[in-house]
Amino acid sequence: MVVAPRRTKIVATLGPASSSPDMLAELVQLIDGARLNFSHGTHDVHAETARLVREAREDAKRPVALIADLQGPKLRVGELDNGPVMLERGTHITIAGEDVARDDDLPIAPAVLGSVLQPGNDVLVDDGAVRLRVERVERGRARCEVIVGGPVAAHKGVNLPGVTLPIPSLTRKDIDDLQFALELGCDYIALSFVRTAADVQALKTLIEASGATAHVIAKIEKAEGVAVLDEILTFADAVMVARGDLGVEIGAAEVPLIQKRIILRALERGKPVITATQMLESMIHTPEPTRAEASDVANAILDGTSAVMLSGETAIGEYPREAVAYMDRIARAVEPSIDYRHETPTAEEQPTIGQAMSNAACDIAEALAATALLVPTFTGRTASAVARLRPRRPIVGLTHHEDSLHHMALEWGVTPIRIPECADVEELWQTSIDASKAAGIVDPGDRVVITAGTAVNIPGSTNVIKVDIV
Ligand code: PEP
Repeated sequence: MVVAPRRTKIVATLGPASSSPDMLAELVQLIDGARLNFSHGTHDVHAETARLVREAREDAKRPVALIADLQGPKLRVGELDNGPVMLERGTHITIAGEDVARDDDLPIAPAVLGSVLQPGNDVLVDDGAVRLRVERVERGRARCEVIVGGPVAAHKGVNLPGVTLPIPSLTRKDIDDLQFALELGCDYIALSFVRTAADVQALKTLIEASGATAHVIAKIEKAEGVAVLDEILTFADAVMVARGDLGVEIGAAEVPLIQKRIILRALERGKPVITATQMLESMIHTPEPTRAEASDVANAILDGTSAVMLSGETAIGEYPREAVAYMDRIARAVEPSIDYRHETPTAEEQPTIGQAMSNAACDIAEALAATALLVPTFTGRTASAVARLRPRRPIVGLTHHEDSLHHMALEWGVTPIRIPECADVEELWQTSIDASKAAGIVDPGDRVVITAGTAVNIPGSTNVIKVDIV
């Protein structure tokens, strides 16, 4: 009896709650991506977690994408010598870059405030829990009224909605973390606060210069990034709807429609999209999600997201395994309602041969009620082209490339399987069928649709569709 694989992918952020060998051995049975958050933790801790993920995914024989998430140009509260401060509504506080901050000022790092703030700007601290309004700015120090009060501790995030920050997208820390993440062999690098397509290109150039093959996830969390989404999608390998900072920067009320827009544009471009943050937030402390959270996860899946992501739930929560198991249950409950995105490209749209072939392969699989679509692929690109149509049949992405195997782990509906390198297309077909049977995705007698290139091992050469009874 074949159990259909879950189509939506699950990414878990790893942290103290989830990085013990026993916990990881359990989590890798269900997750498809493991996120190392470089906003927290030391290089030693990330190296050990990456080693354990690699070990666990080998033992479980399941590809799991290792994702390094770079902090990006995030403003933070600096060191507070006397501990957290309590800001009362209606009172005043002066904020200043760390270099010019005086004794009672709230220091902010890095020191760019003086050059960017204007009277009337809002300064949001700790994901917007505390809100200040700038009244005047003098020599790098900004006098603010406390609009919404609360406690402020060192290192809490600071957002300046609508203010263009004169700091590069890749900070000194990001460049150090990037080199380290590439040495760890991370499969994806997530870039925070992407503002332009050039931000993505700059990161890709650094990755290529290091001789690495890591793919780039552009985190969309600023109004500037939303405005140039199409350009970003041209260069990024994947995108993330980073709802935490997006909600602070643009306002929570705007997030649902922006989420739908980002997912739809990514789907049309055939790029994986991850929906992130506060998906099962209450499960940090309780073993059951709220009904609203279950609906949120379900709706992201119905929007067409490729993956859903857990943050605090798995990094520091009390119920990491329950949170992952709930994601799995919600996805399985919703997926039968996802529609096949039938489309026939026209010559004017100038589809690649791979795109046109994948459309035809999906239609044939649909018409014949095939058990699975088998997609031998060099780079994983044909598997992406098939996945973007959300076919109702499981997609098996077969590759002899270790990096493509882990890249495909985040691709909606794709079960990545490692196969040996084949000499010709007949061998590739048979190897693909044997591997899919061995993985339990197809049974003897099942009908399958295979797409492949007759020039095996040459990327972008997909040119044949074959229907077979296995
Ligand atoms: C977010 O802001 O939603 C996000 C995923 O980024 P981070 O967790 O790095 O703040």
